[in-house]
Amino acid sequence: MKPDIVIVGGGPAGLSFACSVAKAINKLHVVLLERQSLPSLSDPAFDGRDIALTHLSVRILKQLGVWARLPVDSVSPIKEAKVLNGNSPYSLNFDARGESLDALGYLVSNHHIRKALFDEAQNIDNLEILADTVVTSVTTSETNGSVVVADERNFEASLVVAADSRFSETRRMLGIPALMQDFGRACIVCRMEHDDPHDGVAFECFHYGRTLAILPLNGNQSSIVITAPMTEQHSIVEMSQARFNLDVQMRFESRLGEMRLVTERFAYPLVGVHAQKFFATRFALIGDAAVGMHPVTAHGFNLGLSGQEILAKEVIKAVREGTDIGDSRLLKRFERMHMRTTRPIYHGTNEIVRMFTDDRLPAKLLRNLTLRMVNNFPPIKQVIRHKLIESRNHNSILSPLFGQL
Ligand SMILES: Cc1cc2nc3c(=O)[nH]c(=O)nc-3n(C[C@H](O)[C@H](O)[C@H](O)COP(=O)(O)OP(=O)(O)OC[C@H]3O[C@@H](n4cnc5c(N)ncnc54)[C@H](O)[C@@H]3O)c2cc1C
Repeated sequence: MKPDIVIVGGGPAGLSFACSVAKAINKLHVVLLERQSLPSLSDPAFDGRDIALTHLSVRILKQLGVWARLPVDSVSPIKEAKVLNGNSPYSLNFDARGESLDALGYLVSNHHIRKALFDEAQNIDNLEILADTVVTSVTTSETNGSVVVADERNFEASLVVAADSRFSETRRMLGIPALMQDFGRACIVCRMEHDDPHDGVAFECFHYGRTLAILPLNGNQSSIVITAPMTEQHSIVEMSQARFNLDVQMRFESRLGEMRLVTERFAYPLVGVHAQKFFATRFALIGDAAVGMHPVTAHGFNLGLSGQEILAKEVIKAVREGTDIGDSRLLKRFERMHMRTTRPIYHGTNEIVRMFTDDRLPAKLLRNLTLRMVNNFPPIKQVIRHKLIESRNHNSILSPLFGQL
């Protein structure tokens, strides 16, 4: 049977979109094509990423039935966030006090999110997930989208949705240009346990040369995110465990007492991507394929979730009204709405990265000044805090600390 929608990529964005449309309209036949094997989709391995989710993202995951599938102890609340600059003890502080919420946001490991999404998706009758399936070609016309896979099967659909990562091959096949920023840096992530409690406080330390984020997990554990020049990646990943423990502990000035590595260290190259268009004829981009963010503001998947929701709502509306789900006016509306959020966040985040990785004296002074200004000007702080915890529009856990400035 000819599918209505073909999704390329079964990462968190592709799976979320698949669930959103297929659950809402059971007469829609949705096919999701993913190059990974079935076991790596159904039981994904820990990849070092602990994803900071906003209240908006939690709302979307709850509506999809995915939140309830997460193991209870896999959700760690972020109660407070502090930003430090250089060697200064001064910090910019945010908390959820005064709001009827228990946290600024929540940390959940990427592999738990992926598993919960997959478990939900595979129970939907009108959604077909084909693993071990590599898409090799996508073409579209005014009447049809056509997706060819490595074994030469051809899937024709009214709409093709690409969720095939920030390095999206299908985006390129459809000739959609993208801005790319290679930061020349790497992000090294892992988990550590420590002697002292973190009290739910997340720290973002903009040290000179390196940044260090320590994010609170349940129990006396934290998610560690180090960003460093690419040239230091190997030494950080391969450093002996004892030296690594001491190194992080010293850089964090023993605020959590003794620290010990409890997982493997994973490295990711830091490349930001923003597609110049989010659609072509009968084709739409979601997730990192549309916008791949620098992780410092913890936006990536949060944007992926809000973007797929916008597209899903447009598709659902079209089906209910009996109109074409691949209509370019529908896709244009999705692009306009999503880009309104993504453009300022993408460029704002890159600006923050530039300012907080520039170790020349004027930048160091500006960094200090910025943190003090926000801390001491209650109206700005209040606006940022509200942005942080509202659940209707897009927001982010860490970006409001800087991104709204
Ligand atoms: C260190 C780190 C920390 C992060 N922290 C946060 C955070 O705190 N908060 C947050 O919101 N986000 C965070 N992110 C971002 C988040 O992880 C990503 O935004 C999210 O994983 C992107 O999901 P996706 O589905 O768009 O893409 P991906 O996860 O990249 O999935 C793409 C899928 O497409 C498949 N695919 C690719 N090409 C093909 C093909 N030709 N045929 C078939 N299948 C194909 C791939 O196999 C893959 O499964 C972080 C990222 C990193 C690296």
